[in-house]
Amino acid sequence: MAVLPIVEVPDPRLRLISKPVEQVTDQTRAFVQDMIDTMYAANGIGLAAIQVGVDRRILVIDLQDEKDEDDKPIKAPHAYINPEILSVSEDLSSYNEGCLSIPEQYADVARPASCRVRWLDEHGEGHEEELTGLLSTCMQHEIDHLNGVLFIDHISRLKRDMVMKKLAKLRR
Ligand SMILES: [Zn+2]
Repeated sequence: MAVLPIVEVPDPRLRLISKPVEQVTDQTRAFVQDMIDTMYAANGIGLAAIQVGVDRRILVIDLQDEKDEDDKPIKAPHAYINPEILSVSEDLSSYNEGCLSIPEQYADVARPASCRVRWLDEHGEGHEEELTGLLSTCMQHEIDHLNGVLFIDHISRLKRDMVMKKLAKLRR
């Protein structure tokens, strides 16, 4: 178990295009576990490898939307390696997004409501699924990271400036 430091804006690494994973190995699996530990430690629901400084096309997501009898979230982390969006719906849905690389800042972002995605799991097995709801939003947000895109790129310049100002204040 290792919790890795998270890269935050305006670190230029967040603008890199991440490279595909050529082979899923034990090393990949150990790194995926570190990403999962890091995501939970930061109370996130998704994390892209570049957010811990590694420019590989790897994501972890756990929406933590299922609760046990004590109302504690049931952990069900998933790894998505070389994820690819095959198609998106025409209808959009808006969600108040946040990002571990832009701490404590949120903004409404409109994205396609559903998307069809293909990926490899941590055992190197292929999957293809139609994603909807929060998982669709989260997946698109995380795949954006692999292409050097942040959620603040999807909002107006005015709102983006506001987010960055609030963040600067928070850091002072
Ligand atoms: Zn993010």
